[in-house]
Amino acid sequence: MGKSLSYDIAAILILSLLMISCIVRKLTSGSSNRLFLTFIALNWIATLFDIWAAVLDNANSASHFALQLAHSGYLFVHNMSVPVYVLFVISLTDTWHKVRKNIFVQLLMWVPLLTVSLAILTNPFTKKVFLVDGGYQHGEWFFLIFLSVAIYILFVIAYTIWYRELLEFTKFCAVMSYIPIGVVAMLVQMQVPSARVEMFGAAISILIINFGAQRPEEIVDSDTQFMKYSAYAAHMKRNYRNKKNVDVVMLNLGKFSEINALMGYDFAMQVLDDVVDRIRHANMISGGKADLYYLDRGRFRMVFNEKDRELAVETAEALVASLMEKRDFNDLDLTLQPIVVLARCPEEIKDFKMLMTFGMDFHEKVKFEPRVMHVNEVFHKGLFEIQGNIDEIIEEALEFNRFQVYYQPIYSIEKQKFVSAEALLRLFDPTYGFISPEILVTAAERSGAIHRIGDYVLEEVCRFIAEGEFHALGLEYIEVNLSVTQCMRINLADKILGIMAKHRVSAEYINLEITETAASHTQEVMAENLQKLNRAGISLSLDDYGTGYSNIKRVIQLPLKIIKLDKTFVDEQDNPKMRVVLKNTVAMLKDMNMEIVVEGIETQEMLDFFAELQCDFIQGYFFSKPVPKPEFVSFIKSYE
Ligand code: C2E
Ligand code: MG
Ligand code: MG
Repeated sequence: MGKSLSYDIAAILILSLLMISCIVRKLTSGSSNRLFLTFIALNWIATLFDIWAAVLDNANSASHFALQLAHSGYLFVHNMSVPVYVLFVISLTDTWHKVRKNIFVQLLMWVPLLTVSLAILTNPFTKKVFLVDGGYQHGEWFFLIFLSVAIYILFVIAYTIWYRELLEFTKFCAVMSYIPIGVVAMLVQMQVPSARVEMFGAAISILIINFGAQRPEEIVDSDTQFMKYSAYAAHMKRNYRNKKNVDVVMLNLGKFSEINALMGYDFAMQVLDDVVDRIRHANMISGGKADLYYLDRGRFRMVFNEKDRELAVETAEALVASLMEKRDFNDLDLTLQPIVVLARCPEEIKDFKMLMTFGMDFHEKVKFEPRVMHVNEVFHKGLFEIQGNIDEIIEEALEFNRFQVYYQPIYSIEKQKFVSAEALLRLFDPTYGFISPEILVTAAERSGAIHRIGDYVLEEVCRFIAEGEFHALGLEYIEVNLSVTQCMRINLADKILGIMAKHRVSAEYINLEITETAASHTQEVMAENLQKLNRAGISLSLDDYGTGYSNIKRVIQLPLKIIKLDKTFVDEQDNPKMRVVLKNTVAMLKDMNMEIVVEGIETQEMLDFFAELQCDFIQGYFFSKPVPKPEFVSFIKSYE
């Protein structure tokens, strides 16, 4: 019976389309893409040999040499494709670095391949693998091919089970489909040799792997053709978990959001394209070793393996040089303020969460300099370490009562005495020493611990007010800081009122200070909370007025009683123009019936200036630094 070619032809068509689609979809860089493409190519070549062999077998008159070549070619290439499949599966789990030096794995990869290859190559002399004289027949060594395939398959099964956490379920199913389909196709072909379904089976399972494991739309950003944030997160998470050392070149374009907002989408895309070209070029001159990612909003990453460490340094430097070249977009001279940071992970950035948090906004925290920066320069050392351990630091601080509330007196110019104080958080950690509240609050806002800390501060303040000494000192209220994240808490008002009720502290004794930071998508919840607190009789202050975030609109919209002029604003009072600004600001706020606290007063001269402007309250080192409660009490007593 002649051999049918239809399955093989179908396989060739499927494999050709798959190869073209991988190339068109740019699935050509990165080890797993390259191995997948190699796997398809080997199957494609094997199918061609199979077709040739079938044609020769059908012809009956073919030369011995041609028959040997066609069958050997088929078996040789097909046999080679199996270890490539194994490598592909390993690369999907990204654990290659773990097995690379493992002698057992090395033997397992090479011995079956080499043994079978040798057997096939020597077949013309030994005639042990197959015979072609008088029709194609398996020889006594043919079992070696089955044995080798069985070894590889058992290895893949064991490997994927061992590293099952590193493969998503759909990918796992997709890559595993190769095995049952392959086995069934092989069995069918053994029973019905004329059917030639083996390569068709392989093509079908490659198709399944393509859909299940190689989905570029999931990982490739359509604007840049770099991999997306989710892919970066997944890959870096895996690197940390596998303890794989990588060097990450991080590029954040400091001005990208501004350009986008100011110049519009099309223009921003033009800028993006230019940067993408430069990154590609920088990567190309270093041999294309990096995996490229675009995390959105002007943030790029190039990830190098540890062995390419020197290339990472060179590429980062080349990238800075390239980005600093003068170029104009529509005749505009643009400064992108590209900040390039080289980070060794995990040596310099200890864990995955820290990497992701750090990477978000380092460009907002440093002064731009046109050179490759080091992690330590860019990331506040204290914040960096504390951020990594913040959960434990805060848990322990709460457990061992390490938090303290300090009080800084506030002086009333009209009454010529201290009428209130600001409560300020303090933490002396046994490992990190004094942690400034700014660092602490920022870190706690990110970790979510800010709410518990906020509750603690308010409890302490309420306890102080409830003690009675507070009234004896002639104090009227205490100012307590609320951060933006606290204001976002849905039930904030109830929580605060609950704590006050618990200590029987009435609303008039608490004043809440709110600070605005740049992002303000919190408006609604915040406004609701503040209205509710205000209705309950708690007065509100706007902190840090004059720093840019606390703007006029907020002064008008929020139910504020007090405005606190920020120290940075106050510090410039010897500048004549600033004096005009301060004078008019104070007059304007007074016209709105606001009370004014001036913060950061350090000298008599400053005090006199603001007293003359008829500000209401003064707070600053001139009177006292923030101090623990007992010292604060004695300080006020000493002034009576
Ligand atoms: P803030 O609310 O504007 O607090 C005033 C800051 O200015 C305090 O810094 C205070 O020590 C400092 N200061 C006061 N007078 C002077 C002066 O004359 N000269 C100088 N150089 N500094 C002065 P501190 O205590 O380091 O607090 C920093 C920020 O941390 C606070 O700014 C506030 O935003 C935040 N913070 C502090 N405690 C808490 C808290 O319990 N909860 C929340 N959410 N934030 C807090
Ligand atoms: Mg404050
Ligand atoms: Mg302030």
